[in-house]
Amino acid sequence: MVPSAGADRVGRVRERMAVEGVDVLCLSHGADLPWLTGYRAMPLERLTVLVLPAAGEPVLVVPRLEAPRVSPQADLFTVLAWDDGDDPIDLVASLVRRSVRSPDADAGAGPVVAVSDRAWAASLLALQSALPGVTWRPSSSVTAPVRAVKDVGEIAALRAAAAAADRVAVVLQAGEVPLVGRRESDVSGDLGDLLLAEGHQQVNFAIVGSGPNAASPHHEPGARIVGPDETVVCDFGGALALGGDAGAVGYCSDITRTVYTGTPPAEIAECYEVLRAAQQAGVVAARAGVAAEAVDRATRAVIDDAGYGEHFWHRTGHGIGIEEHEDPYLVEGNGVLLEVGNAFSVEPGIYVTGRFGMRLEDIVVIGEDGEPERLNRADHAMVALGP
Ligand code: ZN
Ligand code: ZN
Ligand code: ZN
Repeated sequence: MVPSAGADRVGRVRERMAVEGVDVLCLSHGADLPWLTGYRAMPLERLTVLVLPAAGEPVLVVPRLEAPRVSPQADLFTVLAWDDGDDPIDLVASLVRRSVRSPDADAGAGPVVAVSDRAWAASLLALQSALPGVTWRPSSSVTAPVRAVKDVGEIAALRAAAAAADRVAVVLQAGEVPLVGRRESDVSGDLGDLLLAEGHQQVNFAIVGSGPNAASPHHEPGARIVGPDETVVCDFGGALALGGDAGAVGYCSDITRTVYTGTPPAEIAECYEVLRAAQQAGVVAARAGVAAEAVDRATRAVIDDAGYGEHFWHRTGHGIGIEEHEDPYLVEGNGVLLEVGNAFSVEPGIYVTGRFGMRLEDIVVIGEDGEPERLNRADHAMVALGP
């Protein structure tokens, strides 16, 4: 957790609650709670909910046996532990009732409660029966736009995570991770080990797609043996907490580099130059005040013009922070304007089914001057690695 950030975030969240007309925010599983408080609920069946009213004291309802894990930042919330045999839904419902204006106060308009997008359905269904007359919203309607604008501490954490991922990419591109003759899953394991060695506390994914598998963007690395004269897409990332505290909330890295096991033939080398130009066009387009979808259009235009349009069939990128995928999404139809403090991937790909694939991904932040800055600096070329 970034020092002293919590109180500021609660303030920003409450401003957004007012804009959205949300009376109470109920944060359970998912990233909103650790982002706001530094506490991550265990993803088990027992109920944890932070009840944050628009005004008044926030209360964290937590199972008694997990309460010792809670070390709240001073003054952020009080802890209310429940015992096995208690009904925690009752507890949360009474806190919500206590926090909202009387439904009769405004004719017909019941209270609005926002619940974590990733809360268990079972918890939400129980809360819904306990609190009739409430209008329910996803917590992301409040938190996503706030989380999308990173503070200084968050940018520093993203920068450190990207630098660590870059160091792994440099090892890969130097040919120090053996590829040819090994299973994709073994190469993936090596990349994960390197992420940990470079300071990540957690590996989120290490996609290794070789040969025809490189044309599957979210390929699950498996038993296929990497061969000579193939593209190998390596897309890896994890979470890194500044200070290296395993219990702290980490920020994510996410980088893709494509390497070639041999000397690439002209067709693949030319295709890669298209991809590289597309990625560059996307990064350059990503300025404050520009619509998120304009970045997607910028990468796609380069790939379309080169005749590969039908082979690029995913969005250009996603926001990144405490979660590996969050707002803003760089996708056609997303007209939200980019702003200072946004952090996201720019990751076009070209996938020729059954033959080869390639992707190039950096994390980009929009700096104080409104200009894009790449956090990943590892060689953007498709490095040729001899077998
Ligand atoms: Zn992905
Ligand atoms: Zn990625
Ligand atoms: Zn990504």
